[in-house]
Amino acid sequence: MLETTVAGSLPKPAWLARPKMLWAPWVPEGEALAAAKRDATLLALKMQEDAGIDIVSDGEQSRQHFVHGFLAEIDGIDHARKVTMGIRNNRYEAQVPTVTGALKRRRPVHGVEAAIARAHTRRRLKFTLPGPMTIVDTVADGHYGDRVKMAMAFADCLNAEARELAQIGVDVIQFDEPAFNVYMKDVKDWGIEALHRAIDGVGAKTAVHICYGYGIKANIDWKETLGQEWRQYEEIFPALAQSRIDQVSLECIHSKVPVELLRLLEGKDVLLGAIDVASDTIESPEEVAAVIRNALKHVDISRIHPCTNCGMAPMDRRIAEDKLAALAQGAAIVRHELRYRG
Ligand code: ZN
Repeated sequence: MLETTVAGSLPKPAWLARPKMLWAPWVPEGEALAAAKRDATLLALKMQEDAGIDIVSDGEQSRQHFVHGFLAEIDGIDHARKVTMGIRNNRYEAQVPTVTGALKRRRPVHGVEAAIARAHTRRRLKFTLPGPMTIVDTVADGHYGDRVKMAMAFADCLNAEARELAQIGVDVIQFDEPAFNVYMKDVKDWGIEALHRAIDGVGAKTAVHICYGYGIKANIDWKETLGQEWRQYEEIFPALAQSRIDQVSLECIHSKVPVELLRLLEGKDVLLGAIDVASDTIESPEEVAAVIRNALKHVDISRIHPCTNCGMAPMDRRIAEDKLAALAQGAAIVRHELRYRG
């Protein structure tokens, strides 16, 4: 019980990519880059195992960005035709590539790193992919003329990838959908339907990660505008509870999400964010334990997986290590208490 996991990404070593930034440029090139990605994947697994994390990820060591890593191998996207677009309902501007034709997965995208990770850990393995709604919010449409149609086409590409990842032996496939906290009506109208299309026939547990974004300035400013209570989850959790997705990964520690909203996820595993990725202050195990105890008032213990609030890609590597150790130790405190109490 209380098996720990991570939201997905981990910091990369400085010999692989420039540290402490999103979308960091690679340091080596060509063959040396491929070897460095492989080595970094092994270190990411070891770092999680040493910290005591139960369900580990490849740390997204082989991709530069959580959306664009997948898009690199999709036909129908012109990566040279960049458009400046407001994304996440204009929270920030980004230079995004343009969809110019029918979308089709050219070849397996993440199979190599998933197989490497699978071969080098005995723990359960989790692998992340971008969700269809978040992808359509991160590209310009020069072909479909319809967000939903384009999302369903991306969902088909994701489905082909997810089926292969499950065959490689990945235990949990998670779709990252930060856009779910922005377009709450769309989630109910077609976002969950697109996820269902992405998980169709996939032989693994499935998860969706819905956060309030990395700890970058645009997100911190946005959170300031959300008021005393963040109730975005309230609008979408009932629909997610009805969905065929097994697990929901959410932000909890240091957020203004009322913890009782977790009740709305009845029947789902809750990946409970108990580590703040927007702060370099390392949580004490006791702080992590307090978050878990609070959630236990609303969610059955068999359903809780203590987790990070979001990916750790832009963090300092040593800080991330210490935070993961605190996560595992915090879960151990609560486990011990519950056993003691009988
Ligand atoms: Zn996130």
